[in-house]
Amino acid sequence: MGESLHKSYYTITVKLQAEDDKHMLIHGYTGAIDIVDSNIVNAMNAENISSVLSEDEISLLSQRGYLTNKTVEEEQSYVAHFADVLHRMNSKLYKNFGFVITYDCNFRCPYCFENIISKHGTAWSKRTMTKEMVDKAYDAMLKIEPHRELHSNNIILYGGEPLLRENREIVEYIIKKGHNLGYKFKAITNGYDLNYYSDLISPKFFKSFQISIDGFREKHNSRKFHFKEGDSFDKVISNISLAIEQGINTSVRINFDRTNIGDREILIKYFEKIGFTKNPNFTYHAAKVDDFEHSTIKQNSKLFTSLDAINNIILGDNCFANTEVILTYFKHTKYNKEC
Ligand code: SF4
Repeated sequence: MGESLHKSYYTITVKLQAEDDKHMLIHGYTGAIDIVDSNIVNAMNAENISSVLSEDEISLLSQRGYLTNKTVEEEQSYVAHFADVLHRMNSKLYKNFGFVITYDCNFRCPYCFENIISKHGTAWSKRTMTKEMVDKAYDAMLKIEPHRELHSNNIILYGGEPLLRENREIVEYIIKKGHNLGYKFKAITNGYDLNYYSDLISPKFFKSFQISIDGFREKHNSRKFHFKEGDSFDKVISNISLAIEQGINTSVRINFDRTNIGDREILIKYFEKIGFTKNPNFTYHAAKVDDFEHSTIKQNSKLFTSLDAINNIILGDNCFANTEVILTYFKHTKYNKEC
């Protein structure tokens, strides 16, 4: 405890108009609400509270949160911790859903498990959700959790690359149906074909995008390239600009490993130069990409292969799944997918 007893930073006092000499006390984080006389309100502002209030009064006012020994900083930190715990409880309570729209992708990143899928031919990699599957997925969400109010209102769109230009029709169907059911969407995308969705890129439909960049122009283009059109850096940057200008929170994940770590600062300076960092819808974070050829993780990650994950989660009859489950599987797979 940092200080002598004093009025809590979160105590709010409201004079009641209808009753003389009465005040309402409200406490911001305990949720207490009480009606008290003016002498209590005045006493709580006194320098030496214990000389003007009885022990019982002090005990009661402290229990309700109106009096405290905590400094303002301690109270603020307590509230931040409390909010964090509530947030985590909340996210456990609500069911999260994600649609794996397709296994196909227009990039050929060397570390991606999609390469394994491609080896099984187009019968696997070219599969995309149909309208019938989408309808069934929405129905199944209510079977999994019949209480709609316990669904997270945000559905994740995932792949492969979920926002391929050729997926436009099915993505629009998913989004408009989801919108009518009260959902918004978060997409984990490589950002290359985002401009084909410009009329749908609106806060009405989308909550956020996560787009990965693997370094500055040259390094990024050497790893994240379009399988037909080649370099992708400038197009992805242009599409990030489109997204943030249209009001969508867009988080750039900077993938780095020992070969491109030097590009991180260059890229951040570039974001500053082109004005991205001034846009409140733009954020970035760095994420380490494991090099499985040289990592000891390889020896320890025998729990699942990517094929196990795909068989268990994606290639079953379900084209939807609890995203926490999907991401847990990916964490334990030998191969990465770092879109
Ligand atoms: S990591 Fe993402 S963008 Fe790259 S090939 Fe895989 S799915 Fe496509």
